[in-house]
Amino acid sequence: MNIGILGLGLIGGSLGLDLLERGHRVIGVSRQETTCFQAIALGSVSEASTDMSRLQAAEVVFICTPLGLIVPKFAELISHLDDATVITDVGSVKTPIVEALSPLWENFIGGHPMAGSTNSGIEAAQRNLFAARPYVLTPTTTTPKKAISTVSEIVLSLGANIYHCQPEQHDRAVSWISHLPVMVSSSLIATAMSEREQDVLELAQKLASTGFRDTSRVGGGNPELGVMMAKYNRQALLNSLQQYRQNLDELIDLIEQENWIKLEEKLQSTQSSRRQFNV
Ligand code: NAP
Repeated sequence: MNIGILGLGLIGGSLGLDLLERGHRVIGVSRQETTCFQAIALGSVSEASTDMSRLQAAEVVFICTPLGLIVPKFAELISHLDDATVITDVGSVKTPIVEALSPLWENFIGGHPMAGSTNSGIEAAQRNLFAARPYVLTPTTTTPKKAISTVSEIVLSLGANIYHCQPEQHDRAVSWISHLPVMVSSSLIATAMSEREQDVLELAQKLASTGFRDTSRVGGGNPELGVMMAKYNRQALLNSLQQYRQNLDELIDLIEQENWIKLEEKLQSTQSSRRQFNV
């Protein structure tokens, strides 16, 4: 199959590595020529160019640009494509994208691979990034079955597990488990940095081990992606953050009151709740 990828970064580049390995012809388009050369050298695409019209030959196009560019680039993209071409995107927020793009292209289906890394750009691309990870598809009532099955077959070939849901449900769900953690983790790093005594701060930095590594990882990721999450999933994220603040206040109260019994009950409850998440 001829598969196009628009935006050769972490996600687009990783997708290309797997698709090329599975025998597809992968046509890459990116903003910078150097990225195109790099993608070819890495074995992420069969061919690559900065010229969007090259995607004319694709039967399916994955839009993998930064979140804020998906809608603007789409308008330019469709001027080069045949109506039968299936388009999907990998954006981390779905409602504004699906609302804007579905009316413009019958064969569009929103998508979001729940896989990533704290690095970005083509040099961060990796094989099997999507294997055994959830991959959300958000078809609407008017999405043609053939478009859904075409994208689903490709996604399944990556070894990913497909979930279908409404764009709004997706955005609320990822707010809890992806967007809120980025903001919490970022505040954690900022709070640790607020230690006033330089010697103590340096000691903390040296003593930081697995606990801090795990909890600070997503806060140390791509800032552009974090801003996009907040901008495009603002309401759901605000709701999650307000709920989080309430939980934090409860913890502060319990510790101030030296209510160790209640604190233990709370920690026992979160210990057992964590098992209900797919991690
Ligand atoms: P990224 O590594 O920064 O890659 C985005 C790529 O898009 C860049 O390498 C850039 O290529 C290219 N690009 C920028 N402007 C462009 C333009 N005008 N035309 C064509 N290409 C352009 O970002 P990413 O992490 O792969 O994220 C891409 C998408 O995946 C986002 O929509 C994000 O929401 C979604 N997503 C990210 C993650 C994650 O954990 N990172 C997970 C799931 C989904 P050049 O080098 O050519 O400028």
